[in-house]
Amino acid sequence: MRFDIVTLFPEVFDAHLKHGITRRAFDSGSVQVRLWPLRDFAEDAHRRVDDRPYGGGPGMVMLAEPLQRALSAVRAQRGDTESAPVLHFSPAGRRLDQSLVREFAAGAGAVLLCGRYEGVDQRFIDAHVTHEISLGDYVLSGGELPALALLDAVARLMPGVLSEPSHQQDSFSEGLLEGPQYSRPEIWQGPLGPVPVPPLLLSGHHGQVARWRRERSLELTARRRPDLIAAARAAGQLDAADEKYLRLLGL
Ligand code: SAH
Repeated sequence: MRFDIVTLFPEVFDAHLKHGITRRAFDSGSVQVRLWPLRDFAEDAHRRVDDRPYGGGPGMVMLAEPLQRALSAVRAQRGDTESAPVLHFSPAGRRLDQSLVREFAAGAGAVLLCGRYEGVDQRFIDAHVTHEISLGDYVLSGGELPALALLDAVARLMPGVLSEPSHQQDSFSEGLLEGPQYSRPEIWQGPLGPVPVPPLLLSGHHGQVARWRRERSLELTARRRPDLIAAARAAGQLDAADEKYLRLLGL
């Protein structure tokens, strides 16, 4: 899988690609990443990649021409038989979620276009962009952080990235949030006194532990994100024991 990132700030990606567990995916080449500094594709003497908006208004707009040259260079180098999806990060896009991450993790990669300034000339978006993706309902100053968020979420789904397949238990893996986790010491000296670990976790009863975790997960999801419970129910991801537990909680 290969991601080509068109950006004005390629150095933003360095630290992330070199550190942490996802590095394995990038180092092994299971997720290849190529950075394309947009300024290299500016042809005028000033290496302009942005200009003032027609019609007036504040800020600058990213020019279609350098973007188009960058995209042609990417396409030539990828040599895909089918053209790769072209993603543009924008607050107007579809909200990034785990199901979209899974789709990209199963694909051959994409071209990621990181906007800056006030955004990208709409004619380029209309001509080339296949997916507009938002990180959430807030405004960032560029598409680099959303691109990193997508890369990170995709990389951790790659085989061999996590030592154990812990993503099978991650939040959203079955449409629910993951419940609380505990580690040593068994009794922690907190600010209000000693706090023990929930005793069942020390019992060694794997079946009961699994049920307890499922119930914590159901409870947390029902309280914080009832929309996810409704979606899990609609997708047939809740069994009779789950439904019984939710009724017991009155949720
Ligand atoms: N004028 C734009 C905001 C520009 S912010 C507007 O009001 O919609 C500059 C760039 O940051 C955008 O082009 C986009 O690529 C990126 N960006 C900002 N917020 C984002 C978000 N929530 N999700 C994804 N990309 C975002």
